[in-house]
Amino acid sequence: MKTVSSLLNDDWNERYRRISRLNIRSSIYDVTDHCNLRCKGCFFFSSNEHKAAKEETDIKKWKAFIEREIERGVNLAILIGGEPTLCMDRVEAFYRRLPTFCATNGLIKVPRERLPHMMVGISIWGDEKTEKTLRGKDTFALSSKNYEGDPHAYYLYTITPKQIGKTEPVIKKIRDVGLKVHMQLLSNDEKVDGFSWRPEELKDIRMEMDDMLDKYQDTVISSRYYHEIITTGKMLGRSFGWAECPSVTEPLDNREPRPRRLINFIRWASDLKIMHRCCTSETRDCTTCKDGAAHMSWVMVNKRMHMNSARDLQNWIEVCEMFAKLYQFIPW
Ligand code: SF4
Ligand code: SF4
Repeated sequence: MKTVSSLLNDDWNERYRRISRLNIRSSIYDVTDHCNLRCKGCFFFSSNEHKAAKEETDIKKWKAFIEREIERGVNLAILIGGEPTLCMDRVEAFYRRLPTFCATNGLIKVPRERLPHMMVGISIWGDEKTEKTLRGKDTFALSSKNYEGDPHAYYLYTITPKQIGKTEPVIKKIRDVGLKVHMQLLSNDEKVDGFSWRPEELKDIRMEMDDMLDKYQDTVISSRYYHEIITTGKMLGRSFGWAECPSVTEPLDNREPRPRRLINFIRWASDLKIMHRCCTSETRDCTTCKDGAAHMSWVMVNKRMHMNSARDLQNWIEVCEMFAKLYQFIPW
């Protein structure tokens, strides 16, 4: 195996040093079992994870739990749900103690006077028509008003097969409200007709995502290698899936041999006791999983296999940089 410094020039070495200083230990929290939408394809509701636990409502218990998580070594709290902003006191309790990212549908505005720097990832599932089909309303119309120009917010664009050839207007309208966008792919957990990926569609969307990245470099937070990984499910000859997934809750991980994985990662249910299997749907078939964060982490925990060539290592660095930007560890 080659050394990092022998593979990289000075610029890339500096970029490598910047991201290798980060020592991110994330976990994921179901802040609530409720949501003000019911999207078709939502992994949380489709897998009945909202019924897995009785939601803890005592804020003192949340605060004590957060202290235990800090002691456990967590230094990045990723808040999901349900819709976390329905329980702003819980969101604030995390934000006061930890670097915190909040995934939201954007219908409720985070009060910036209380949470000025919290990174907010706003979901968007496509153009107005697709959003109405899958989510019952055009969420962008509301969320863009709530977050226009917010330096600590970006759109998390879940692309469906119906979006092929139609992503550019979505990227443009996000750019026009002064926000960034990160792209991921729908896993279609509820098998909505026409929304499952076919191999040729994955090839097409990979090219389109590359094109969007090239054209809208100031708006799109992504990397070509990430596009390759999520559309092919392959990384240097290895295939993504249960045997390789890094985002499995550590105390539940009984895989043998154990793959390289996120250290101390747990996804907690809203009762603060039950743990879910992984970062996404408990019932999802891993062979169809398109989870963007899991694929990104898969690259990140496998640095060593990217040490055979300068291009492989640069790809690895770019994915780490993308992750660090999305969680505000380095600037856009
Ligand atoms: S907004 Fe998010 S949590 Fe709520 S139903 Fe839609 S995907 Fe699920
Ligand atoms: S569903 Fe996806 S994130 Fe969950 S264990 Fe399977 S591959 Fe990993």
